[in-house]
Amino acid sequence: KQVLLKVENLYKHFPIKKGIIFSRQTGAVHAVDGISFNIYNGETLGLVGESGCGKSTTGRTILQLYRPTSGSVFFEGDDLAKLKGENLRRKRRDLQMIFQDPYASLNPRMTVGQIIGEPMEIHGTYKGAAQTKRVQDLLQLVGLNGAFANRYPHEFSGGQRQRIGVARALALEPKLIVCDEPISALDVSIQAQVVNLLEDLQSTLGLTYLFIAHDLSMVRHISDRIAVMYLGIIVELADRNELYANPRHPYTQALLSAVPYPDPFVEEKRKRIILEGDVPSPVNPPSGCRFRTRCQYAKEICAEEKPAFREISKDHFVACHFDISGQQSAS
Ligand code: SF4
Ligand code: MG
Repeated sequence: KQVLLKVENLYKHFPIKKGIIFSRQTGAVHAVDGISFNIYNGETLGLVGESGCGKSTTGRTILQLYRPTSGSVFFEGDDLAKLKGENLRRKRRDLQMIFQDPYASLNPRMTVGQIIGEPMEIHGTYKGAAQTKRVQDLLQLVGLNGAFANRYPHEFSGGQRQRIGVARALALEPKLIVCDEPISALDVSIQAQVVNLLEDLQSTLGLTYLFIAHDLSMVRHISDRIAVMYLGIIVELADRNELYANPRHPYTQALLSAVPYPDPFVEEKRKRIILEGDVPSPVNPPSGCRFRTRCQYAKEICAEEKPAFREISKDHFVACHFDISGQQSAS
C-alpha cells in the first residue's frame, strides 16, 4: 500500500468574537482538533460523523481551501500546508472536490461547458477547440450527452447536476477527490447511480477518494476503510468490514446500531443504542474524552485524561481508555 496523502496532527480553529463590548473575550471553534491518518493510493476512505463534527472542514483543510491552524498535510511527500503561490496552485490540480449540493455549487449564469472548462481556463491546460473537445469527452465520461455543454444548470435534474460537478472535478486529471456528501442531497433512487459512477471512474482513472458522509449506511458500499469523527477528532479508524463487524468505540457502536444490517443473525444481537444529550459545543469541548458526556461507559478517568488513538488490532485504531466490545452492557 502506497501512501498518497498523509495528515499529521492537523488542527483547524476558527476564531470567534463574542460581541463588540467584550471584544477582548475571544475564543475559537475547534472544528478540527488534532487528527492524523493516511489515505492510500487507489482506495476510498470514508469519513463519517454527525453534522458539525468537522468532517467538511477536514476535507477543505486537506485541499488548502482552509489553511490549517497547525499540522501537516503531505501529498506525495510535499507538505501542502507549507506550499504557497505557484507551487501550491500547481499541486492543487491533483486534489479536487465534489460538493454536497448540486444545486448551489454550479454557477447558474454559466453554461455547462463554461463550468467544466473553467478549471482548464484558470490553469491554462486546454484552450479553444481542444477545451471544447475535452468538455465533451468529460460529459460522456460521466454518462451525459456532449451536447449538454451549451445548456445551463437549471435545465438538469439533481443527479445530472452532480454528474456535471463530477466532470468539473475531473477536468484537471486529479489524483485525489474529496467527495463532500455528494449523495446526501439526492433522491434515494439516484444515490446508487452516483455512487456507481464514482466507483467506475475510480477504476478507470485510478482515482483515490476521501468520501465524507453523515451516516454509516452511505459509506458502507463505497469505502475500503472508514474513519469515524466526533467533535473534531477521529475516534475510530478501521477496514470497512472490521468496523462493521467489530466496532470498538462506543460512538461507532451507537452510529452502527442505527444502520439496518443485511445479516439478520447479526441484527438480532445488535440493540439500538440511543445517544442521550446533544453534541457539546466545539468552542468548549469536554476535558479528557470528548465523548464522555454521552457515553454509557464513562468513568472518572474519562474526564481527566484524553484517550490515545491506539492500534487495538492490526490497522484498527480506537480512541478510548477501555476495550469495549459492543456486546457488553453498561455496568
Ligand atoms: Fe466512553 Fe471513556 Fe471510552 Fe470516552 S474513553 S468512549 S468516555 S469509555
Ligand atoms: Mg458538511
